[in-house]
Amino acid sequence: MVSTPHEVAPAPDTSQIIDSCDVACCIVGSGPAGAMLSLLLARRGLKVVLLEMHKDFDREFRGDTVHPSTLEILDQLGLAERALSLGHGKVVSPFFQAANGPFAPVDLRRLKTKFPFILMVPQTKLLDLLTQEAMKYPNFRLVMGANATELITENGATRGVRYQSDDGQHEVRALLTVGADGRFSRIRNLAGIVPTKSAPPMDVLWFKLPHLPSDPNAPGGAFGAIGMGHMVIGLERGDYWQCGYVILKGSYQEVRAEGIDGLRRHIVEILPALAEHVESLTDWHQVALLSVESSLCPLWCKPGLLLIGDAAHVMSPVGGVGINYAIQDAVVAANILTKPLLSGQVTLEDLRKVQRKREWPTRVIQSFQSRAQQSIIATALQSSQRISIPWYVRAFFRAPLIRDLPARLIAFGPVRVRVEN
Ligand SMILES: Cc1cc2nc3c(=O)[nH]c(=O)nc-3n(C[C@H](O)[C@H](O)[C@H](O)COP(=O)(O)OP(=O)(O)OC[C@H]3O[C@@H](n4cnc5c(N)ncnc54)[C@H](O)[C@@H]3O)c2cc1C
Repeated sequence: MVSTPHEVAPAPDTSQIIDSCDVACCIVGSGPAGAMLSLLLARRGLKVVLLEMHKDFDREFRGDTVHPSTLEILDQLGLAERALSLGHGKVVSPFFQAANGPFAPVDLRRLKTKFPFILMVPQTKLLDLLTQEAMKYPNFRLVMGANATELITENGATRGVRYQSDDGQHEVRALLTVGADGRFSRIRNLAGIVPTKSAPPMDVLWFKLPHLPSDPNAPGGAFGAIGMGHMVIGLERGDYWQCGYVILKGSYQEVRAEGIDGLRRHIVEILPALAEHVESLTDWHQVALLSVESSLCPLWCKPGLLLIGDAAHVMSPVGGVGINYAIQDAVVAANILTKPLLSGQVTLEDLRKVQRKREWPTRVIQSFQSRAQQSIIATALQSSQRISIPWYVRAFFRAPLIRDLPARLIAFGPVRVRVEN
C-alpha cells in the first residue's frame, strides 16, 4: 500500500514482543565493525547488545586480510599474540607475474610498525576472538540468530530495534543504535539512507585451488598474473589457495557460456604453473561471483543512529582494505562516543564527528581504488597480450620517496587510527 503524506503510518504490532531490554548501545551485525565496536564499548563498562542474524560466523569466503592497522589495534587491546596464532600466512610483498618478470609494487617490510605484514586470518576466527573477548564483560550480550527487522523511533530519534529470532519477536531499547550490518544493510534502508554507488568496471570469481608441489612461487603469501584479457590472484590459505579471477563487469554469463573448461583454459593461459591445480575445478558450484561494488553514504547518522563499516561504505576489493576500514570505523566511533554514552547523552553532532573523521579517508582510498581498477581494465583485461611492466613504472615504484607510499596506504590508509580510551 502506498501512503499519502496525510496518512498516519500504522502503529507497529508490538503485542507479539516477548522480551524487552534497555542498553546504552545496540549494535546490529557482528562482522568486523560490529564485533570490534562491541568489545571497545563493553570494556568501558557500557551495556551493549550485539545482534547477529546468523547462528554462527562460519560463512563463505569474505576475506582474510588483517592489515598492520588492525594488528596494531589488536595489540593495543592485548590481542595481537592470539591473532598471530590464528593466522595461516603472512603477505609481505604480493607480486604480479608479468611477461618481463615479477613486479612487486608494494613491499610492507620497510614499514615502521611491529607488524610489517598482512596476516591472513579466517574471518570466522577473527570474529570469534573479538566476541569471546567482549563476552568477558558481564555488561555485554551477543544474540545469535537475531534478525533486526524494525527501528524503534520516538520523537524523531531511533531508540533501538525489534528483532526476530526462532522463539519470536524481541526488542532492544538503546540510547544509540549502530547499523554494522554490512553492504545490504537493512538498518540503513529502514533509516531511509541511500548510498551513492559507483560501479567499478569489474567483477571477481572466487574459487579454491589445492596446494601442490608445482605451486607457483609465492614467497610473499600471494601471487597474481595479468594480461591476455585475464587477471588471476592467489592468496595462501593454509592447505589451499584462495583464488580470484577478475572479469569485466557484466561478462559473467559470457564467461559461463564458455564452460568450466574455458575458465580453466584462461587461467592456465595467463599462469601456466596452475595447469595441474585447475583440474580440481570441475563445476560452477565451486565458483562464487562477487559483484564488485563501491559505495558511500552521504549521511552516516541520524538522531540516535549511526552506520559504520560496509553499511556506510562498500570498498572495492582492490588492496583488501574492507575489513580494516570497518575496524577503523569502529575504533573511531568508540573513541568519540564512549564519553557521551557514559554520560547518557549522545547528540547528532557527536555522531557527525564520527562521519567527518572517517569519510575523508574512505574517499581517499576509494579514489585510489578507482584509479587502480581503471588501469587493471585498460592494461590487463582489454589487452590480448601478456602484460610487460615498462622500466619507468618499475623505476617509479623503486624511487626512494615513493616506494613506501603504496605500502603505507594499504597498511594504514591515509590516517593511523588508535584506540584512545
Ligand atoms: C567475497 C568477498 C571477499 C572479500 N575479501 C576481502 C579481503 O580480502 N580483505 C578485506 O579487507 N575485505 C574483503 N571483503 C570485504 C569485507 O568482507 C567487508 O568489507 C567487511 O566484512 C565489512 O565488515 P562489516 O562489519 O562492515 O560488515 P560485514 O562483515 O558484512 O558484517 C555484517 C554482519 O551483519 C549481519 N547482518 C546483516 N543484516 C542483519 C540484520 N538485519 N540483523 C542482524 N544481523 C545482520 C550479517 O550477517 C553480518 O554478519 C570481501 C568481501 C567479499 C564479499
